[in-house]
Amino acid sequence: MIQIIYFILAALNSSFFIWYAMVSYSEKEPLATMRSLLLAITSPIPFIAAGYLPQETGLTILIILLTLTIVAAVLFYIPFKRLAVENESSGYRIDERNTMFSRLEITQSPEKTKTYYAENPEHLALDKKWQIKHGLMSSSSSMYEVKAFAAAEASFNVIASLRNSVSPAPLAIKKILNTKDATVFIKNWAKKLGAIDAGVCELKPYHFYSHRGRGKVYGDKVEIHHQYGIAITVEMDKDYLAAGPAAPTLMESAQQYLNSGSIALQLAHFCANMGYSARAHIDGNYEVVCPLVARDAGLGEIGRMGLLMTHSLGPRVRIAVITTDMPLLADDRKHDATVLDFCDICKKCAEVCPGQAIPTDDKKEIHGIRRWQINQEECFSYWCTTGTDCGRCMSVCPYSHPNNRLHNLVRWGIKKSWLFRRMALWMDDFFYGRKPKPIKLKF
Ligand code: SF4
Ligand code: SF4
Repeated sequence: MIQIIYFILAALNSSFFIWYAMVSYSEKEPLATMRSLLLAITSPIPFIAAGYLPQETGLTILIILLTLTIVAAVLFYIPFKRLAVENESSGYRIDERNTMFSRLEITQSPEKTKTYYAENPEHLALDKKWQIKHGLMSSSSSMYEVKAFAAAEASFNVIASLRNSVSPAPLAIKKILNTKDATVFIKNWAKKLGAIDAGVCELKPYHFYSHRGRGKVYGDKVEIHHQYGIAITVEMDKDYLAAGPAAPTLMESAQQYLNSGSIALQLAHFCANMGYSARAHIDGNYEVVCPLVARDAGLGEIGRMGLLMTHSLGPRVRIAVITTDMPLLADDRKHDATVLDFCDICKKCAEVCPGQAIPTDDKKEIHGIRRWQINQEECFSYWCTTGTDCGRCMSVCPYSHPNNRLHNLVRWGIKKSWLFRRMALWMDDFFYGRKPKPIKLKF
């Protein structure tokens, strides 16, 4: 009987790692496939060996094993540490003119450049460092690939053609809607259109930039007209991202800016057709800080790399936002402090970042709140060398694994237990490597 129990345990153990190997193979993760196959072969050996021990010794070991399993299960279920939710906003509004894409745009205007650096002299030396490099999407950059760069440019061209349609005129007669029905309809339709998630929040001033930093409206104050923000996320292809920093990452980035932007436009036009004022916030034409709206709409938390860490795909998403005066039901955001606790110990993104732009130390007080802040100049400077987005940080993040049973089991454990978070990080390093290398992608 004891022998049978040992054989069952051996089979269960082996089956788990065979499953892990199959999933890893389908995810094109060679290291994880190899290591889980090795464990599928070796991990049942102690159980099989124990099955051949004298019955009494076998029983004693079985009781010890069961006791250890129960203790481990209990330990993994205990949160250990009550995680405090820190203050997330001091009300500070970001000025879009300080973002890197705005600082890139003003290089085309001597007048704006002069004014900007007169008002922000601390940025001058930092910006000179990336301004002397080849530049984003440059044919002389180190990662230039003619087809991929042309494909990315094609996506950006289409986005540019959409930028003038972000504020559709609302129909004169408002259709009276049940708030809950309208919210459910919008979220479901967003998902039907390709979003992986959608959420709603009541907008606060800090969701909006203080001033515009792009295009003809450069320097304009941002007025707050809308009460509700709908945030949507779309998935970025895992393989195209894992190839980065390389041309496919740029292609994927542009593609998902376009996909998220086009969904946002359709939703904004829907609101207008129902008689409500609405605006889509898409690449190159934002009035809101998308990650903050998405966070407050319950789509995730802001992690070490300063990006939205979503529930099912971590940072491997692009975000777009629609703001509107259509009455909607705001999501009840549940703070998830476990993400920040995991970021505290993980630091994987910071260790692989080729621009050394992600902090490895603790959060710091910035504009009245404690958070991590990446060095955006160093990040952008690296992009200007390669000519592409980099995306290494998103790609290696343990939260970025695909949304499937295996990884969702780990995500569940991470949410539940302090101890499991430590073990999950160790497992992630073991199966995927502490510093995974970019993959070679045929495209
Ligand atoms: S890689 Fe690690 S530290 Fe960086 S954002 Fe992801 S979980 Fe946080
Ligand atoms: S995109 Fe690349 S350079 Fe920028 S923070 Fe992420 S890893 Fe670093």
